[in-house]
Amino acid sequence: PIYRKARFLLSAPDLRHLPPDTGREVAFAGRSNAGKSSAINTLTGQKALARTSKTPGRTQQINVFPVSDQRYLIDLPGYGFAKLPQAIRAHWQRTLPEYLQRRRSLRGLMLIMDVRHPLTALDQQLLAWCGAVGLPVHVLLTKADKLKQGPAAQALRHTAECLARDHPDTSVQLFSALRARGIETAHGKLDEWLQL
Ligand code: GDP
Repeated sequence: PIYRKARFLLSAPDLRHLPPDTGREVAFAGRSNAGKSSAINTLTGQKALARTSKTPGRTQQINVFPVSDQRYLIDLPGYGFAKLPQAIRAHWQRTLPEYLQRRRSLRGLMLIMDVRHPLTALDQQLLAWCGAVGLPVHVLLTKADKLKQGPAAQALRHTAECLARDHPDTSVQLFSALRARGIETAHGKLDEWLQL
């Protein structure tokens, strides 16, 4: 599929360094360590697309991966990392909502959550920002391989109910980078948003 063609273009320290705001893009967000890089690598069928840009210093940048002409996957900095200097946290606390609000190319947000710890306070804040600007969100409950089938289904049901109640324009699925599970459904969402 087309997502195998994704490559690394640039790391942007702020919004001015992003490519021109034309075309279509989907952003990936989540708590650090939730499994965002692994999800991006799995969805693009590449071992280290997201990880290569994860060398120290680049972690807190916006990584841009073109898939085809005017079609981008955007890797946003992970949030909730306690050891981050306050100034850097403050920078992203301003920059992320600004990106979600201003970026016209942005068609949807893939929100990565560990299936064992969904909907943390910062996830809720991001969902609220997206809701406020009418940006659709698709949640990947990843590391689904860490739970047995019953508890995983229960986590999916619970998260779906919470989202349906508080954040209408959202969808959710189970995902596992380790087991390559949920790829087709996630690709379907990307196809829809990127019109691929
Ligand atoms: P990021 O900080 O959100 O980019 O998270 P990473 O993708 O670097 O993953 C954080 C940790 O979780 C790593 O040790 C990964 O190997 C592990 N991990 C990520 N996805 C999965 C998964 O689907 N299943 C399992 N079992 N572990 C995963």
